[in-house]
Amino acid sequence: MSDHTKQGSKDTVKALLVENRVFPPRAEFKGQVDIKDAAIYAEAAKDREAFWAGCAAKLDWFKKWDTVLEWEAPFAKWFVGGKLNASYNCLDRHIKNGLGQKTAIIWEAESEGEQRILSYDDVYTAVNKMANCLKTLGVAKGDRVAIYMPMVPEAAFAMLACARIGAIHNVVFGGFSVDSLRDRINDAQAKLLITADGGFRRGKIVPLKETSDKAVAECPSIEKLLVIQRTKSDVNMKEGRDHWYHDMMEKADEFCEPEPMDAEDILFILYTSGTTGKPKGIIHTTGGYLTQATATTKWVFDLKSEDIFWCTADVGWVTGHSYIVYGPMANAATQVMYEGTPDFPERDRFWKIIEKNKVSIFYTAPTAIRAFMKWGEEWVNKCDVSSLRLLGTVGEPINPEAWIWYHKHIGKEKCPIVDTWWQTETGSILISPLPGVIDTKPGSATKPLPGIEAKILTEEGSEVEKGGGYLSITSPWPSMLRGIWGDEQRYKDTYWSKWEGKSYFPGDGAKKDPDGYFWLLGRVDDVMNVAGHNIGTMEVESALVDHPTVAESAVVGISDELKGQAIAAFVILKEGNEPGKEEEDTLKQHVANKIGAIARPKKIIFTAELPKTRSGKIMRRLLRDIAEGRALGDVTTLADASIVESLKTKYSEEG
Ligand code: ATP
Ligand code: MG
Repeated sequence: MSDHTKQGSKDTVKALLVENRVFPPRAEFKGQVDIKDAAIYAEAAKDREAFWAGCAAKLDWFKKWDTVLEWEAPFAKWFVGGKLNASYNCLDRHIKNGLGQKTAIIWEAESEGEQRILSYDDVYTAVNKMANCLKTLGVAKGDRVAIYMPMVPEAAFAMLACARIGAIHNVVFGGFSVDSLRDRINDAQAKLLITADGGFRRGKIVPLKETSDKAVAECPSIEKLLVIQRTKSDVNMKEGRDHWYHDMMEKADEFCEPEPMDAEDILFILYTSGTTGKPKGIIHTTGGYLTQATATTKWVFDLKSEDIFWCTADVGWVTGHSYIVYGPMANAATQVMYEGTPDFPERDRFWKIIEKNKVSIFYTAPTAIRAFMKWGEEWVNKCDVSSLRLLGTVGEPINPEAWIWYHKHIGKEKCPIVDTWWQTETGSILISPLPGVIDTKPGSATKPLPGIEAKILTEEGSEVEKGGGYLSITSPWPSMLRGIWGDEQRYKDTYWSKWEGKSYFPGDGAKKDPDGYFWLLGRVDDVMNVAGHNIGTMEVESALVDHPTVAESAVVGISDELKGQAIAAFVILKEGNEPGKEEEDTLKQHVANKIGAIARPKKIIFTAELPKTRSGKIMRRLLRDIAEGRALGDVTTLADASIVESLKTKYSEEG
């Protein structure tokens, strides 16, 4: 890096540290955690393979592995020769251990008052029967099954039923459109589609079956549809092709032998959320994935048998795979699963669910936390959320302002916050505090977990000890992706070409502070270069959100004759604040004060909404397209396409 960029890095680390308090684990919390000793880091680093083998041994294997790791960069095989079944590990073994009566899922419907409580026995029976239905429909080991479902327990059953017979599931988020569903089915060449008549969203019916019908009309690989009845709305059932789940389940046998899967057999394919471009079909295999999802659930959330765990993600995202289905269930956890949105019927719904079910561990996304902030703490204060003992976040960097709000208003200053960095590709959490061991700093995901080796590298591959660069995972980990479905070249190019196959490149920029803490700065594609200074989007956004009138913001670099790039900021104001020239000047000055004159935005565009993916992440690449007057890139994963259109008009009008 040039001297200029080094200087830029220094400036900007300071900006992220605007909130410079450190939060050590509280004594009460530390007293009861499983992992109390920081020695685990050194122990794991001494012999990573032995460490992960120890974690794998906590699962039930039909046959033990012969070799822990075969690594021919960039291809890893973990627990080679071992045989196991993921659904067996999530269900059968708990029942054998006498936990059949334990509650597995507390399902809250969107309409208040409707609840289902399912024990491990209940889930076991449903999964076995459903696995038999899949067989009846002609699904065999290795076949791909697309799952396009609302957030109902049957979505989890469907995944586990696939795992039981060795079919590869490909879950497509239930909010996706016809085109997105069609493309993901076709790419994976799925044989069966599991869907529902519909789902509920803010009291309205989402016509999943109708969307499925339109999609599969262009999916020649699909032979059958299995349809779950949720809304009881009128749907078209095509004779011979479409089958009702409740009809088939009535006749299904109660037991289905779990298929002994090779550790390296594929468990699922999942498409990334498409924040940076065309989604990639990420491949995960059985042994390594399950080992690490299970272990990290236990460590990061300090999960105990009596906890009520709630991860608010949708099963359509990797978070729902690893921290609703596989991680918690392999640990025999009791968890809440919620069908709807946080603001239905009112903006206190999450807090009501926590109060009602005495949720103790709560895991959500920064985008949700920023919405709660925007709505105001009075919604939380109406409810008793004192059952909470640990909070987590995932999905984007969390700005210190939101972290502190979460800590204060949800955690009541007593719950540790685990900011967990990971990706669809990594399969499970890689960088996060261990809540009983690591001091947390708002805005930092802290340190790589035991058994994980991460570094910050320069373009040339040398390590940056202090300051910014590319985040890299420098040795293989069990739950790493095994490839991109049908596109080996893209796998090599995207993740392994930067440092000649030696280290994994996640695409994110990060910085390390003098204590060795990692600060995620967002995607490197989004990093701006203003007059030779590298400035991360996260840094300017944090400074903006730090201002009392700002609820949310997204910044992008726009071409500038003088500086190479200048900063354009899209800003959502908190309710009750007026956009205008005065506000614009105030915010520009605020950023300059916080970070330095170099980061002063050239333009501020006030907006009511930002373009986000269906998983709630800001799509800066589209904002860049707008700001630079280009044609818009891939928009299929947008939650609301009308937002970009109106922003485009607004932007060109304001010049
Ligand atoms: P695509 O790869 O298709 O562009 P995506 O990267 O948004 O989509 P995901 O795998 O869902 O798809 O998201 C992973 C990314 O989310 C990470 O690479 C990182 O940029 C961001 N992220 C997740 N958790 C955190 C976190 N705790 N802190 C900072 N960034 C995070
Ligand atoms: Mg990504």
